[in-house]
Amino acid sequence: YRAKALGGSQHVMFTPELLAEHEAKLATEHALTAALERDEFSIELQPQLDLVTGDVTGAEALLRWTHPTDGPRRPDSFIKVAEKSGLIAEIGDWVIEECAAIMERWQERGNARRMAFNISPRQLDRPDFFNRMRAAFAAHDVPLSLVELEFTETTAMQASEHHIDEIRALRDAGATVAIDDFGTGYSNIARLRTMPLDRVKLDPTLIHDIESSETAREVVQAVITLVHSVGAEVVAEAVDSEEQTDILRAMGCHTVQGYMFGRPMPRDRFFDWVGERDEANKKDRGRSVA
Ligand code: C2E
Ligand code: MG
Ligand code: MG
Ligand code: MG
Repeated sequence: YRAKALGGSQHVMFTPELLAEHEAKLATEHALTAALERDEFSIELQPQLDLVTGDVTGAEALLRWTHPTDGPRRPDSFIKVAEKSGLIAEIGDWVIEECAAIMERWQERGNARRMAFNISPRQLDRPDFFNRMRAAFAAHDVPLSLVELEFTETTAMQASEHHIDEIRALRDAGATVAIDDFGTGYSNIARLRTMPLDRVKLDPTLIHDIESSETAREVVQAVITLVHSVGAEVVAEAVDSEEQTDILRAMGCHTVQGYMFGRPMPRDRFFDWVGERDEANKKDRGRSVA
């Protein structure tokens, strides 16, 4: 197969593998468009816990897609396609609206905490993104103090000055700002120092072997020290053993998020889970005081 590249005289050879990949991408794009129309997306909430007190401090909103025939599909299998095709802008709008609606319900339940959601770089390029985001939360009576924005390290480092100013204004208005997947991109330390920032989420690849590797421990300790030195807190993701938890706590990591503490859950189950967890924590505390 031969295809003429857009606007050039170059020719690209499509091997059967490339063609199959291209077709799979197109199929995903079509399915994503349909998914928006047919309301196949949902949000799950994964708890975040204070490493010292065990309190639930908040949650991360994670996008879920239930395909009509393929069933549940992981974000890793479609976010990239959504970003490349530009569909992420509309999906991102849907995520924000859904998060605002969930936060309104959580406040009605009376035990609401901060909720983080993920923002793709393509979303920032949409005109008026920040104002529309503020309007969505305001329409559901959700204060920005309950809202956390997660940008990947790459997004944060490549954001324009204008976007950084918008993020700073949101933070000044009470929102929390987090850098996600830290340790997988290229950080500009000068920017890390000056950008509006509250929390840094360590990429799981940094911590997966801290029980067994002295070097891994030293690197994580250095990163935690760096993050603290710019005035931010550290969140560890995908922590999966008691031993890792103890090491991270001793190193000064504030918050954890991982299956062993709590899986991503649909809204109502998550609300119940938080209630039960609060009760259990209260009892524990009573016991340790007694
Ligand atoms: P992320 O933002 O770094 O989210 C954390 C991922 O780690 C989630 O995967 C979560 O389920 C997973 N995780 C949490 N604890 C554990 C653990 O103990 N072990 C393991 N193995 N994994 C754990 P998920 O939900 O599949 O999301 C994958 C990625 O998709 C996210 O990574 C994020 O980059 C992207 N994503 C998810 N929702 C959205 C969204 O609404 N918008 C955008 N733009 N991206 C999203
Ligand atoms: Mg995230
Ligand atoms: Mg992450
Ligand atoms: Mg990730």
